[in-house]
Amino acid sequence: MKVPYVNLPLQHQSLKVEILQAIEKTLNHGMFILGDEVQEFERMFADYCQVKYAVGVNSGTDALVLAMKALDIGEGDEVITVPNSFLATASSIVLAGAKPVFVDVRDDYNINPELIEPAITALTKAILPVHLTGRPADMTPITEIAKRHNLYVIEDCAQAIGAEYKDKSVGGFGDVGCFSLHPLKNLNALGDGGVITTDQKETYEYLLKARNHGLRNRDECDFWAYNSRLDAIQAAALKVKMRYLDEWTKKRRANAAFYREHLKEVVKVPVEKKDEKSVYHTFVIRAERRDELKEFLSSRGIDTKIHYPIPIHLQKAARTLGYKKGDFPVTERHAGEILSLPIYPELTKTQMDAVVGEVRNFYKFNRTDT
Ligand SMILES: *Cc1c(COP(=O)(O)O)cnc(C)c1O
Repeated sequence: MKVPYVNLPLQHQSLKVEILQAIEKTLNHGMFILGDEVQEFERMFADYCQVKYAVGVNSGTDALVLAMKALDIGEGDEVITVPNSFLATASSIVLAGAKPVFVDVRDDYNINPELIEPAITALTKAILPVHLTGRPADMTPITEIAKRHNLYVIEDCAQAIGAEYKDKSVGGFGDVGCFSLHPLKNLNALGDGGVITTDQKETYEYLLKARNHGLRNRDECDFWAYNSRLDAIQAAALKVKMRYLDEWTKKRRANAAFYREHLKEVVKVPVEKKDEKSVYHTFVIRAERRDELKEFLSSRGIDTKIHYPIPIHLQKAARTLGYKKGDFPVTERHAGEILSLPIYPELTKTQMDAVVGEVRNFYKFNRTDT
């Protein structure tokens, strides 16, 4: 039994005809930069996230950088975020010219709202919660703190399209929401891509220019800016995929429920709280003897990953920020215990049975207490 961690060729097998038709249509009309494909995708995306506006860009990282520029965050500013995320959460803050200030997470892998206020200084400009693993961060206290201290909220929604908190979609809680369309994300392009969501007209209008050389029209430039546009050919393929997103999310959630039911006695599994709907970008367990378990599963043909083995504050790139080992004990403890199991929609029942069976086997054969 082989269970790869992801299987993108399999996802595209059933979509191939539709996607090739969408690409052919784009080849025929020849509007490769912006135009109808991108606009139509942005409309679909905004509606899906229940926000007024969506802007397609080059990547999730660019979405974060441009969002910060739109909010005038840069030199001399601090942005509060977590050390437990993909490193682009922090690098984008630095790339915008500002300084990331980390606070630790809770056992749900998301920012601990109780630690935010003590981290606020006169330089703090924004809070950047990540909806890690596809689970929404605790947005009510976060937005309340932001309001009290007059701070922006930037949501890192890269892993969480369709996730809900109190029945509202992520991407609509903050001033801006930043999404990635990387091939490994829940809604995935055939390459790089990203989206920024907002309800603010002014922010939206800034972003339309900021992704396109600062141009207000073909010939007039308002400010120096990047070329960071979502390709029309990607938008065309993404319009096809958006129609399947709810179905895929449903399967991810069903797979998660199955794992939870069958693994809760042997490892720590994510349990959804009342106000949360997670979309399970990853299904992260916390396991005793994690490295041995990973090795054992691998020997049985089951591929797993660790998201993430090195917390951001301990990366070489983060040295100048002045953090050290021990600063974020929850994140650091998790890094040694977490393991992501395959959770994609195309998994078969036989594959899922194998994952559950082998995890249980590992603890049965290796039990030290019997
Ligand atoms: C993937 C990811 C990003 C970056 O997105 P890219 O499209 O790869 O640039 C940012 N934040 C988080 C939490 C991510 O998972």
